[in-house]
Amino acid sequence: APTFTHEFNHAGYKGKVEVPVGLYINGKWTTSADKNAKTIDVFNPSTGEILTSIPEGLGADVDQAVKDAHTAFNTTWGLHTPGFKRGELLIKIAELMERDLDILSSLESLDNGKTFSAAKGFDVAESARVFRYYGGWADKIHGKVIETTEAKLAYTRHEPVGVCGQIIPWNFPLYMFSWKIAPALAAGCTVVIKPSELTPLTALYMTKLFDEAGVPAGVVNVVVGYGHTVGATLAAHPDVDKVAFTGSTAVGRKVMEQASLSNIKKVSLELGGKGSNIIFEDADFDEAVKYAAQGIFFNHGQTCCAGSRIYVQKSIYDKFVSAFKDATSRLKVGDPFEPSTYQGPQVSQLQYDRIMSYVDHGKQEGAKVITGGKRHGDAGYFIEPTIFGDVTSNMKIVREEIFGPVVVVSPFETEEEVIASANDSVYGLASAVFTQNISRATRVSGALKAGTVWVNCYNELHPQIPFGGFKQSGLGRELGEYALESYTEIKSVQINVSGKCG
Ligand code: NAD
Repeated sequence: APTFTHEFNHAGYKGKVEVPVGLYINGKWTTSADKNAKTIDVFNPSTGEILTSIPEGLGADVDQAVKDAHTAFNTTWGLHTPGFKRGELLIKIAELMERDLDILSSLESLDNGKTFSAAKGFDVAESARVFRYYGGWADKIHGKVIETTEAKLAYTRHEPVGVCGQIIPWNFPLYMFSWKIAPALAAGCTVVIKPSELTPLTALYMTKLFDEAGVPAGVVNVVVGYGHTVGATLAAHPDVDKVAFTGSTAVGRKVMEQASLSNIKKVSLELGGKGSNIIFEDADFDEAVKYAAQGIFFNHGQTCCAGSRIYVQKSIYDKFVSAFKDATSRLKVGDPFEPSTYQGPQVSQLQYDRIMSYVDHGKQEGAKVITGGKRHGDAGYFIEPTIFGDVTSNMKIVREEIFGPVVVVSPFETEEEVIASANDSVYGLASAVFTQNISRATRVSGALKAGTVWVNCYNELHPQIPFGGFKQSGLGRELGEYALESYTEIKSVQINVSGKCG
């Protein structure tokens, strides 16, 4: 396969890394079967320069990959490889990821712009944990014997759904890859995955690790391409049994529609959010300030569960705004490979423009910039961490997902009022409550319409704990035991043991 070669030389890693840049179909690296296929430019978001151009996949390549994934499902994987063997392979993959931690983290940082330290400490380390966790599940997936009458033996089997099409975004390229692939393989499914065209490098590097681990050909197929070609083909494909999508609500809607118009394939969706972070006057103030900053500015605000709406009780509002502004202005923006950097560039020119247009809109609508609101530096896609105050609930910056380092802060007086404000959103992905009062914490977390509620913390994620959205934030759950449900079909078997009819 053609390779992208990059020489890293930063405090965390020095060395040459080679990434196969082709379509990984049936265990081989290849280029598109369609002669109209072109190449996709992959940019370095810190400079805006092209890092490499990689061959694009098209619909014909999805067709081939789906065919090979079916063959693998029917011959080598699925019910043909026992759970404990699938588990061993997943754990082997986790070990290889840990061996190559610095390489994967360097690639993720280069491609996405997130800091090397975040990529190493969070994205790659956690992705390996996800593979290891589902490795542990692979031989523990089973049904139940159901007691009915003496004349009958009834039981359920949890069988793999089949071939899964998986479509992932650019904000956590490797982490989303692991959330999709690990539970699917544990359940016995085979996979055709489309990484984001903006950030394909770690997914492509992973194909080398699958090869080295000995994953049978056709079990995982990686087809890099655009959403309207490769993504849309997967969603509409008559031979794809399930589609798992993470991305925007707008595209999630299309994926669901295509699934319904084709073969009613199973659908799981992880979509957008507008997280509410509620800080009561009895909270541990310093901790609440730290978590509020981490809640929005982690990953440059490019996090679906970001705490992008902060509600602070009126008695501590001014004190909070001043401390939060100080904490925000201390966050260092710059080179993602520099160890002291907290925030690197946004992922692309398009995202940079989108975020800045929200900032302009906020200013025009009369919101007050407490800090930030401008470009940082003059190259790459850097944006100053930005806080808006004086907002009203109908403003675009309060209602829509910005997906950047931009947060709105508003005061509230009562618990009822803040619950109503927090729930006043089409999204329902994540919320947080800061209080030292256990009754209030329990009451408010019960009333919030969100798939995750954090109490006295933010952005905590664990392989064991399910994650997903209420309302237009999605369908189904990822991580934990719950994720296995979306990769298995339940079959009921009823055996007449009486030997008689009726
Ligand atoms: P996006 O929806 O534009 O793209 C996501 C993926 O879908 C990409 O791989 C893209 O190529 C593909 N795609 C685009 N058009 C398609 C089509 N017509 N058919 C099939 N696939 C298509 O989103 P994005 O800009 O890459 O990511 C940002 C969005 O993702 C945000 O809204 C964010 O909230 C959401 N997100 C959600 C979660 C979650 O777990 N809920 C996690 C990460 C990101």
